[in-house]
Amino acid sequence: MPIARRALLAGLGTSVLAQPSLAIPVRRITDSRAKVTADTIWPEAERCFAAGGMSLQVTDVAGEVGRAPSGRPVFKGLAHGAINVVITDFVPLEWDQAHGLSGLTTQYDGFHLCLIAMRHAHGNQTPFFSVNTVVHEILHVLLGDIFQPRPKGADGASREWRIDWFATRLWLFGDGAEIRRQGSSYFARLNPGPGPL
Ligand SMILES: [Zn+2]
Repeated sequence: MPIARRALLAGLGTSVLAQPSLAIPVRRITDSRAKVTADTIWPEAERCFAAGGMSLQVTDVAGEVGRAPSGRPVFKGLAHGAINVVITDFVPLEWDQAHGLSGLTTQYDGFHLCLIAMRHAHGNQTPFFSVNTVVHEILHVLLGDIFQPRPKGADGASREWRIDWFATRLWLFGDGAEIRRQGSSYFARLNPGPGPL
């Protein structure tokens, strides 16, 4: 019924407004060599975060993914104090190791970096198994995985499962309470205030 539905939506709106919101500063760095943009999945990621009381505060930056003579990936356009989300075609070979990854999150020379490999990235597909790549990678940052070495084997798999669990709660139920709590801690660590004098 329209009226009941409106009342329900109004109620949901109130509860979302009552939540403490979290602004997430993102530098969206588009690889000038990439053939594919993130237009297809980015708006869905923004909607997911918004449903959970979070807003992506996007600064668009032109950048480039290159390769040093050593083979190490080189990124132009990274900055401190924000999550650097690089939109590119593929995860660089040295990191991908033929897995065809949809994305990757890591610290790179102290920068906090999410790579979105648009040739394999996707939107929300299957709860708990296949969620929006942008949401998935940013959650690795907000939930603190970026500070831990990447575990192998079962520990690595359970970390992925945990991320997809939070992403699914966000997608289906707009439940962002725990993400906001841990995200606030992340930003406090990223931008510490002035210490004791
Ligand atoms: Zn992951």
